[in-house]
Amino acid sequence: MSPANVTVYRLSPACDISDIEIGTIYQGHVQGFATFGSFVQLTDRLKGLVHKSNVRTNHEEGDEILVRVKQIRPNGNIDLEEVILPSYEVKDVTKQVTTTRLAELGSRIGRTATVMGEIAQVKQTSGPTIFTLVDETGTENAAAFVEAGVRAYPEANLGDIVQIYGQVMQRNSQVQVEVGSLTVLSGPEADEVRTRIEEALERRAEPAEIPLLIESEVMTLLRPQMRAVAKAIRKAVFVSQPILLRHHADADGICSAVAIEQAVVSLIRESGGDFDADYFLFKRAPSKAPFYEIEDVTRDLDFATKDLARYGQKMPLVLLTDNGSTEEDEPAMKQARVFGLTLVVVDHHHPDAVIDQYLEAHVNPYHVGGDYGITAGMLGTEIARLINPAVGDAIRHLPAVAAVGDRSEAPERQRFLNLVADRYTEDECKTMALALDFEQFWLRFNDGREIVKEILDLGPDHARHEQFVALLVEGANAMIADQMEATMPHLQERVLENGARLFLLDVEIHAHKFTFPPPGKTSGEVHDRLCRANPGAAVVTIGFGPDFAVLRSRGVLMNIPRMVRELRTEIRGGGVSGGGHLVVGSIKFVEGMREAVIEALIAKIAQAELATPRLE
Ligand code: MN
Repeated sequence: MSPANVTVYRLSPACDISDIEIGTIYQGHVQGFATFGSFVQLTDRLKGLVHKSNVRTNHEEGDEILVRVKQIRPNGNIDLEEVILPSYEVKDVTKQVTTTRLAELGSRIGRTATVMGEIAQVKQTSGPTIFTLVDETGTENAAAFVEAGVRAYPEANLGDIVQIYGQVMQRNSQVQVEVGSLTVLSGPEADEVRTRIEEALERRAEPAEIPLLIESEVMTLLRPQMRAVAKAIRKAVFVSQPILLRHHADADGICSAVAIEQAVVSLIRESGGDFDADYFLFKRAPSKAPFYEIEDVTRDLDFATKDLARYGQKMPLVLLTDNGSTEEDEPAMKQARVFGLTLVVVDHHHPDAVIDQYLEAHVNPYHVGGDYGITAGMLGTEIARLINPAVGDAIRHLPAVAAVGDRSEAPERQRFLNLVADRYTEDECKTMALALDFEQFWLRFNDGREIVKEILDLGPDHARHEQFVALLVEGANAMIADQMEATMPHLQERVLENGARLFLLDVEIHAHKFTFPPPGKTSGEVHDRLCRANPGAAVVTIGFGPDFAVLRSRGVLMNIPRMVRELRTEIRGGGVSGGGHLVVGSIKFVEGMREAVIEALIAKIAQAELATPRLE
């Protein structure tokens, strides 16, 4: 007998007892010893016994061993004998099963099925262990039970490729597989499934080819990056990766985030998963600063690591809108990167190249010659349509609200207003923007998901929306009027070297504190009044407190982030930081250096060129 004729079989992890033939030789591993013989594993879940009379050599635990199947007893016990071969060839036995794609499970309710997929979440309930599976067609849950509250199949973890055989059931209008057996696949078998899922995912995540809502040169140039962001988000939805949307807590930031929220939530509902999946797979969180603060990333990491530990959830994809482009974001991004969080940014603040190393995708009009006039709300809405075109009609007014809220002067502002002129006037868009700012002030760090939808007329009742917004705007305007009455008499005016008119306001002592409007908005309202009172003039307004100043300007070619950087090195012990847009921003410093910092800042503003004078 030539050695090549002897064949030894290697069972794949998916094989079960029905794949074993009596008389055939298999490769196994010694698992342990008993007084009557040695236990040998043929697969992770299939083992037999070599009686001591059939043991031929001395073994240690884990040793590879060749065994012939002597018999399979009615109770499933497998009797083996050790075989020694000088040479042989190995063949793989792969399990030939018909697998059901997850999307087709609904047609097999009440019957059994075998499914293969990647584990996207492992959630231990007080009853069974719930595995969330993802394959190339969708997402479904499988419930495995050993004992109430005990983790079933502890060898199966997040990211593993598994094969599950079980009964297909319907629970709470949702399909679920009651696990009969679960096998963790490895080697080529797992690779093949993983590749299949990934390839299908790539295709499925590719956004639809749809035109922009309006004509826009800048946004046309931004389309590849917008598609990249949309694709990253779609992919996260399809693999049940949680999405955390961090956005600037102003009207523009809220509009960008709500547009994407609408697209993502409906996509999560469409693509299976739990009935409340949209709540634990999508979170929206407003940030007070126009950048990703350490306080924000600390909260986010706190929740993400707890969700991983408690619910077996993947680390989230973090999407930053109306913030995330500047070097001030870097310290938070460094922390996020340590924990493997994926970051994508949709912003219109002047970008610093240093942060691109942390981002998987970055949409920013400055990258293609545009500026902040293309607001985050415009970009977010177009991206939302790429994520899920079905929401396009419901959210098409959000860019107009964002544009007036952020005082965009880009031509796109009027085009977006025209687009919804049949539904909302410019004034109605402005009232929605003001209502958002007002309500967010009271919501503080909460997202106010449903209330904010009501303000943006995404709720069920248009009349109630109108009533609510009218009330909010009335409240906001009354408080703004109060604030203006208190502050306007205390303005100090200077005419700078370059001819710009500078107005200084101490918001700490001449404004109501801890109420609406807060210092930034107070300075903005003051500035608007000053601009109207000084038509055609270059106007700069600085509202300052003990350790901060807020800048608003018109007609002065400033670069606030650069001025902040210069002040930081020029004023020793000033503790200067801050930033924002080129002509609208804020700056922080230490209280004891306020005079020095503000005077140095004014000196810089006095050197700035004026824009061509124009009439308002
Ligand atoms: Mn903005």
